[in-house]
Amino acid sequence: MSIDYLRISVTDRCNLRCVYCNPLGDCGFFEHGEILRFEEIERITGLFTECGISKIRLTGGEPLVRKDIVGLVEKLAAIPGVDSLALTTNGVLLEPLAARLKDAGLQRVNISVDSAQRDSYKRITGFDLLPKVTKGIYKAIEAGLTPVKINSVIIKGLNDSAEQITALAGMSIHLPLTVRFIEYCPTGKYTKPASDYLPNKDVRAIIERKYGPLSSVVEGHNHGPALNFKVKDSAGAIGFISGRSSTFCCSCNRLRLTSNGKLMPCLYSAHTYDLKKLIRSGASEKAILDLLKRIISEKGNYTKLNSLKEDFSMCKVGG
Ligand code: SAM
Repeated sequence: MSIDYLRISVTDRCNLRCVYCNPLGDCGFFEHGEILRFEEIERITGLFTECGISKIRLTGGEPLVRKDIVGLVEKLAAIPGVDSLALTTNGVLLEPLAARLKDAGLQRVNISVDSAQRDSYKRITGFDLLPKVTKGIYKAIEAGLTPVKINSVIIKGLNDSAEQITALAGMSIHLPLTVRFIEYCPTGKYTKPASDYLPNKDVRAIIERKYGPLSSVVEGHNHGPALNFKVKDSAGAIGFISGRSSTFCCSCNRLRLTSNGKLMPCLYSAHTYDLKKLIRSGASEKAILDLLKRIISEKGNYTKLNSLKEDFSMCKVGG
């Protein structure tokens, strides 16, 4: 498997309080000085491209709350070797930024929306912001940040009714976007218990009961952990990312960089490499490149089956 994908969390702060991710709104924030500066992110990204990384995704916390995120996008888009530049957002701040992000060189956005119903959205995120997010989705499509993907995490007792799931899936019928159902991954004592996860096979059965059999999408979209399908004659697609009920470690091509500069080779491992410390200590370019190459060559040693699982916060890691 070639390792070509780096997810960069640009902040651990978020403007939502999703019950399964950041319910307290405070996952033990990093101090300002601990967070990677833009020039550090730019430098690390440049070094990674020399090691075969060509796909970058900005995430958070909420990446759009980081001051001058458009400026960062512009810097990263200009790095030779960055072929794909995308961002994952909750969409709250997207409407006024979508066109500027596109102009700065962003190619695509994934937008997290766990309910297409206003009351339920508010219950999950703590804020009555679904109309604002919906405007952001339309703006992203209009700006050409496509294909827009909607990420939805289904949690038992929260948004697992047939009505809620089919409303989310139904967005893919008339709009040219992919609605992806991501299995809930229990992460810590303040989020939802592991038993609250609904397997994607159940989500799919609910969708097929309403819309009929889903057909597999074969053309070029099926790399990465999502398996994509279509409702007959729909404008968009439906994807399933089944990290709990299946294992895709052997096809995992991603590394994660936390906002305080720790590189995580595997979401399920507590093992990290402190890149911020290395670059702030004045390490030579060769020393950093040697470490990155070693991390990449050893990535295959991690699987969720042999990794040490411990409490962690998705808003720190970036999803
Ligand atoms: N704030 C941005 C957003 O909402 O998309 C980016 C960060 S968020 C941590 C990235 C993704 O992780 C979102 O799609 C979110 O739904 C997902 N996520 C957060 N906690 C999760 C969990 N416990 N299990 C599965 N997915 C989770």
